Amino acid sequence: MILTGGTVVTSLDPVRIVRDDIHVVDGRIAASGGGARRDCSGCLVVPGNVCAHTHLYSALARGMPYALEPPTNFTQILQRIWWRLDRALDEESIRASALVGGMEALFSGTTTLVDHHASPNAIDGSLDVVAEALRSLGVRSVLCYETSDRDGPERALAGVAENRRFLDRVRREKLPLARGMVGAHASFTLSDETLAACCEAAGVFDVGLHIHAAEDQADEADSLSRCGHRVADRLQRAGALDDRTLLAHGVHLDDEEIGLVLAAGSSIAHNARSNMNNSIGRARLHALGEQVSLGTDGIGSDMFEESRTAFFRLREDDGGTGGDWPLQRLAQSAHLAGRAFGEPLLGALEPGAPADLIVLDYAAPTPVHDQSFAGHWVFGLSSRAVRDVMVAGEWVVTDRQLTRVDQQQLAADALGQAERLWRRLDEIGPHEFEPKGSKGGI
Ligand SMILES: [Zn+2]
Repeated sequence: MILTGGTVVTSLDPVRIVRDDIHVVDGRIAASGGGARRDCSGCLVVPGNVCAHTHLYSALARGMPYALEPPTNFTQILQRIWWRLDRALDEESIRASALVGGMEALFSGTTTLVDHHASPNAIDGSLDVVAEALRSLGVRSVLCYETSDRDGPERALAGVAENRRFLDRVRREKLPLARGMVGAHASFTLSDETLAACCEAAGVFDVGLHIHAAEDQADEADSLSRCGHRVADRLQRAGALDDRTLLAHGVHLDDEEIGLVLAAGSSIAHNARSNMNNSIGRARLHALGEQVSLGTDGIGSDMFEESRTAFFRLREDDGGTGGDWPLQRLAQSAHLAGRAFGEPLLGALEPGAPADLIVLDYAAPTPVHDQSFAGHWVFGLSSRAVRDVMVAGEWVVTDRQLTRVDQQQLAADALGQAERLWRRLDEIGPHEFEPKGSKGGI
């Protein structure tokens, strides 16, 4: 395959732009090759975006009715919204969520999702359902199940088992588009035994732990009252912090904890819009530095919007932040996913890299070159410009249409599943689990 006539961004960090054809051979960018041509004249060709932390299971929550007392803190948001939704999920609604969330990811130019899945009443096999939905669309993914003690010891064990089962399958079957991590909810819903079981599984399968960390002050208060140590300290003592670990949020990490995270080489997935929406505070992004990637925490998968919001939020506090910051963070997200796939070139468009790319139909009003591209990203581009999407050398979106799945049927099925899910939610009350050391929620 040859993509002709486009302006090609071969790297986001540092930005490198060439005006050249792109050759794709056997799923990878190649220096030369023949085959079908696709005209990309007047378009930008950019590496596919990676979302470093999301929850596809929340895709059918958009606009859902809410009849309880409004939550006033983070713990209550979990007890009254997300820990009701996850218990209402069954296999059909998990599948519909992954399909509709995956479709939206592709339409917004996101080719890889690092997902954190929870469905306490449908744990066994749930990662296969998500993986199959994403495979059918052609989305690349790094999946895990959110192990937690909040729904009792049986489900904690089932969570660990689901991670292990899926990781074993990935290893045996070498799924082309899916990899796994070991998922864990957060320190405050994990016993020492369950946390140890997660770390053991990560070691056995040689993958990272994907866990929420210090998202809210409640996580820190729980850890201090549970064991006398703060969250990152507890994780490190459990053997959970290494250079494959992915910590989501990290908003309340103190200096000492940030030191631990940096020394371990762990990644932080920053979720600006989710943090703002939940009023949990601001992550110390400059202190966390190069190890920060970007996620949405389930607020869709549009990394144009997410990276831009993160940038403006950071600029509000620090006007010296450069326009290349969001691009560097997206490059870090791709690096993280590339690590899971054993593909160090994921996120670059150079010979040997997996051909994950997006074609943007963008009538640039000013010159596009290495120095100006960050300005176009922050002030001009958006997912509206996404015309075509390629994952592993295959077109999965052309001319804003899915190539492999009937998108009208998919959307209609999602609507039906959303109505079913919302009805079941009515029967589920607030979750009674409380973090230790908290002032109480429910
Ligand atoms: Zn999350």
